[in-house]
Amino acid sequence: MDKPHGTLNPGWRLEERFRRLPRHFYTTQEAERPGEDPILVHGSAAAAALIDLTPEAFGHPDFAAAFSGHAPLAGVAPYATVYAGHQFGVFVPQLGDGRALTVAEIVNSRGEAWDIQLKGAGRTPYSRFADGRAVLRSSIREYLCSEAMAALGIPTTRALSVVATREGVARETMEPGAVVTRLAPSFIRFGHFEFFHHRGLTEDVRLLADHVIEGHFPHLAALPDRHAAWFAEIVTRTAHLMAAWQAAGFAHGVMNTDNMSILGLTIDYGPFGFLDAYNPGFICNHSDDAGRYAFERQPAIGLWNLQVLAGALTSLVPVETLRAALETYAPAFRARMIALMQAKLGLEEIHDGDVGLINALLQAMSKGAADYTMVFRALGDAGGDGEAAAWIDLFGAAADEARDWLALYRRRVGVGDAPARRVRMNRVNPRYVLRNWLAETAIRAVEDEGDVATLDRIFRVVTAPYDDHPGEEDFAAPPPPALCGLEVSCSS
Ligand code: AMP
Ligand code: MG
Repeated sequence: MDKPHGTLNPGWRLEERFRRLPRHFYTTQEAERPGEDPILVHGSAAAAALIDLTPEAFGHPDFAAAFSGHAPLAGVAPYATVYAGHQFGVFVPQLGDGRALTVAEIVNSRGEAWDIQLKGAGRTPYSRFADGRAVLRSSIREYLCSEAMAALGIPTTRALSVVATREGVARETMEPGAVVTRLAPSFIRFGHFEFFHHRGLTEDVRLLADHVIEGHFPHLAALPDRHAAWFAEIVTRTAHLMAAWQAAGFAHGVMNTDNMSILGLTIDYGPFGFLDAYNPGFICNHSDDAGRYAFERQPAIGLWNLQVLAGALTSLVPVETLRAALETYAPAFRARMIALMQAKLGLEEIHDGDVGLINALLQAMSKGAADYTMVFRALGDAGGDGEAAAWIDLFGAAADEARDWLALYRRRVGVGDAPARRVRMNRVNPRYVLRNWLAETAIRAVEDEGDVATLDRIFRVVTAPYDDHPGEEDFAAPPPPALCGLEVSCSS
């Protein structure tokens, strides 16, 4: 049977970017080839387009082999990079890409730089005692969430595909293995700078900083104080990322400095979670006993991580300058947070008292354990002259507070332009987010039944999160009782 399929070789312009840095920044490393033929589980057409692949490429007979490390991709030597990092507050002097291999650095037809990285394709010199593999379960989670976050408009690394290796991987039990192909303009982390700084290799800190500035902050490259301006921009980007996470109800789960992107992207999806019921103290990572990375602590941790990065840049930028940049974090976060909540409430401008109005809503949501995503999505209706009872019902025991709040809100916005406001609000308040129970449903269908159709349905709703998707409304709901309180740990 001859099916038409796209090319896997769209004439990429290959570059040497990270690879131009000195040899001790990375190690070239071939993927370990699994014994069985790998098979494609799912691919993202939107991510494929970023590297000039058409959706037909997913049907190419060599796709799964190329995007699992089974067959070489672009004729360049894959490499793993070395970094350090603070894990749960404790400095670890050497980490690195323990199971990630960058297999190509390309420039697409629009002139954009993308690094292509396989996660789970085998050991590297930085694997320490681990196996270099990833399990299917976590790979599906990373794949779905990367693409869901992008569709929400939140800066993130992307995911091209998840390929099952058909090889067992030993975790608490034996599990099926997989490889996720990730895409990003750069996978450089705060921890890369910590590695060189800690060793006193200040010239390498400078080389890496200039590499990042030239490639990804070109508007700063000619400034006499480019390093200071660059750090200030990282502060702003990180503050904005934390605000975007808060507004979406997203918790990363492992905000170690080695999981912080120097570009301000969401990176390294592990035990992340979206809020169901609004609970500021939500801890999505079962291994995080102390709640260091609890939902409401994320903005403060973002700053903590930036302080660590500042410490690694003291050979480049005067301490006073670094400190001044760090002081812009809180106002940048707050301003972005207010702007995002303003949009979620459909307010065209901020008046005195609006911040209080937002906080009162969150307080009622917390008291009534109201579903975070549903409250905002349904407010577009309830805030006009539409049905209020269903919205108030979302607040359970805090129904009285919700009713009072809605009256205040209606007075604040007026009902005049309700239909237009509803349209605006539905563009920023998603109906579908990758709730844990959705990820789990997709995983179980694939693992237990080999059913990719359910994964596909979930992929479609979370990657068009503002659309209504008639017939798929169940996926917009809080977890059914059997899928409540699922635990996700670091093991992946
Ligand atoms: P993470 O907590 O997943 O961000 O990983 C922390 C460090 O451990 C990183 O340097 C990873 O590359 C490494 N690592 C995690 N899992 C594995 C694995 N299965 N094999 C090799 N290295 C791993
Ligand atoms: Mg990591």
